[in-house]
Amino acid sequence: MDVFERLVGQEKAVTSLRAHLAHPVHAFLFHGPAGANVHDAMVSFAAALQCPEGGCGSCDVCRRVLTGAEADVIEAQREGVSWLIDDVHEIERVARRRPLACPYVVVLIDEVELTVGSGSPSAAALLKTLEEPPSRTIFLLGVNDLSDELATIESRCVTIPLAALSAADIGEILQREEVDPKVATVSADASGGDLERARLLARDPGVASRQALWRSVPERLDGTASGAMRLVDEIHAAIDDALQPLQERQAAEERRRSEESAGSRRRSGPPRADVERRHRREVRRARIDELRFGLVTLTQVYGQRVGDAVSSPPDSRVDQRMETSMAALEIVELAYRRTSTTLDEVLLLSDLLLQLGRL
Ligand SMILES: [Zn+2]
Repeated sequence: MDVFERLVGQEKAVTSLRAHLAHPVHAFLFHGPAGANVHDAMVSFAAALQCPEGGCGSCDVCRRVLTGAEADVIEAQREGVSWLIDDVHEIERVARRRPLACPYVVVLIDEVELTVGSGSPSAAALLKTLEEPPSRTIFLLGVNDLSDELATIESRCVTIPLAALSAADIGEILQREEVDPKVATVSADASGGDLERARLLARDPGVASRQALWRSVPERLDGTASGAMRLVDEIHAAIDDALQPLQERQAAEERRRSEESAGSRRRSGPPRADVERRHRREVRRARIDELRFGLVTLTQVYGQRVGDAVSSPPDSRVDQRMETSMAALEIVELAYRRTSTTLDEVLLLSDLLLQLGRL
């Protein structure tokens, strides 16, 4: 399978990428809404650039790029929640390298929007890196939110817009990845249009019960603070459970590392502190994803209520229900936005459920 065939639902972007293959410029900016397969598109194009056949999908080069094992395709890593100046300097350092075996050094930088923010020097440093690239280096940047603040960076790149994925697109992608068709449909529906999330859900047997828990929230809010707090505890515990597969995978990785280092004197792989930092980042990220999944589920429930009210014959009770559901949607939307700034999940959940309970 050609590497571009993985990009279901992105025909326009694929046409544009194919056209650029013969004479690529030194920087491409992939942008699309959260959950569109921005990262997949970047990786597929990286494989197409390096593969002698333009992305056949089956040669060693393609396979190595697609699995993240190709040394000439480097995914930039950051330490914190946003890109710091040291991260950008590290990008600059690897970008100056010459390719080892492939035609190019391809540097992937996802979530570029995290360089901006209040007067960040990282954006300026990144811009400088993009302006003076070595001739055989190509940058592939990924962005979900293409704000005005990124205009200067955008102006240095060819932009590749990606479409939002429908639940049907996501279901099809999962089925190609050999997920059972029924599981693929449930996961795609529950993913809120987010492919990465859908992939996780497809491998997670507890997803249906967590979805049911979130769906039961509006019914179970009885207007009392103690009722709301009981739900907060339940949801918090459900999020803990949801993280178990990730934590087991991390523990297995730790064991493998210590076995390897016991077997040889030389240290292999990144230092322990880096791995621990990455693990903490993964856990934090997974908790936020799980919370967002719940908020998307809540939005679906209240959205359904608004829809039902619209299609019922008008009377004052229906009007009242409609108004309450609209107010609830607004509260959930605000909570969703808070997930990108707050680290205190319990506080966010308590605020949310207390407010919803008062409606
Ligand atoms: Zn190939």
